[in-house]
Amino acid sequence: MNILVTGGAGYIGSHTCKALAQAGYRPIAYDNLSYGHRWAVRWGPLEDGDISDRAHLDAVIAQYQPAAVMHFAAFAYVGESVRDPGKYYRNNVAGSLTLLEAMRDHGIRQCVFSSTCATYGVPQQSPIPEDHPQRPINPYGASKLMIERILQDFDAAHGLRSIALRYFNAAGADPDAEIGESHDPETHLIPLVLDAAAGRRPAITIYGDDYDTPDGTCIRDYIHVTDLAQAHVLALQTLLRGAGSTAYNLGNGHGYSVREVIDRAAQITARPIPRERSARRPGDPPTLVGDAQRIRRELGWQPRYADLDSILSTAWQWHQRRLRSSVGVE
Ligand code: UDP
Repeated sequence: MNILVTGGAGYIGSHTCKALAQAGYRPIAYDNLSYGHRWAVRWGPLEDGDISDRAHLDAVIAQYQPAAVMHFAAFAYVGESVRDPGKYYRNNVAGSLTLLEAMRDHGIRQCVFSSTCATYGVPQQSPIPEDHPQRPINPYGASKLMIERILQDFDAAHGLRSIALRYFNAAGADPDAEIGESHDPETHLIPLVLDAAAGRRPAITIYGDDYDTPDGTCIRDYIHVTDLAQAHVLALQTLLRGAGSTAYNLGNGHGYSVREVIDRAAQITARPIPRERSARRPGDPPTLVGDAQRIRRELGWQPRYADLDSILSTAWQWHQRRLRSSVGVE
């Protein structure tokens, strides 16, 4: 069974392609390679295309006749979205609309959508449940929330059922080190910490240590990318069995501070990690922790790499592999 995976050459998309292949599906990666990588597409064909290109989407859908779509393709830099909101609304919202209209017209009725905890905005409670108010504080989160809304309307009007998965902090790498995180520019904490451990940057900068948290640094709920990928397969399978539209959080329900992440990484890599302090990064809430009990209960999702050490050690294994070979460093 073919599954169209937009953004299939990206970080989470490529790990999901691997999980799909292991579950017996054939992932068709559809990616414009603006941020994705050709080397990350290993479990099915790559179609080099843009979600805003309706003619190309029509041709790919006609060729492969996918049973469902997993939709990852999006721009995902919060800071950039604040500086250039048009880029985010055009690509993420208008591009998704083009994709959904193509699905509607070709009779594809199932979609797993890559959403985000950024749709919640500043949390009013912790951990955050799915029925928490969604009031995003940046255009990235707003663009994802708009797509969630469009999906609800497409279900009501066209019977296109969807599951939106709202991720907390995706991290870690494929435990076989075949693929892993490789952003350019890299802005995420864990790859930057590992770069500092490897001596590829002089230090890790801590964005604010005066938050109202036990050690003063921000707390985040890190979730292993392979556990995320598995959740997408479960969501797909439940949609294929006829389940109705819904949204689930994906997190581990446990937060780690920036300092804790750096300290654990120093242990796991057995390298010193120099750190320096700087001002808070605009738009960072002090604590973001997700309540993902619902997907555990309803779909039987069980994370295999829930502890921070597994996340850091798989990320480190991949990081070292990248440095030893040319993969992932282009
Ligand atoms: N962070 C940091 N230094 C960095 C990058 C990130 O202190 O160089 C902090 C950031 O302020 C946040 C946490 O690490 O509190 C996780 O940030 P990341 O960008 O990885 O993910 P986000 O929470 O923004 O999705």
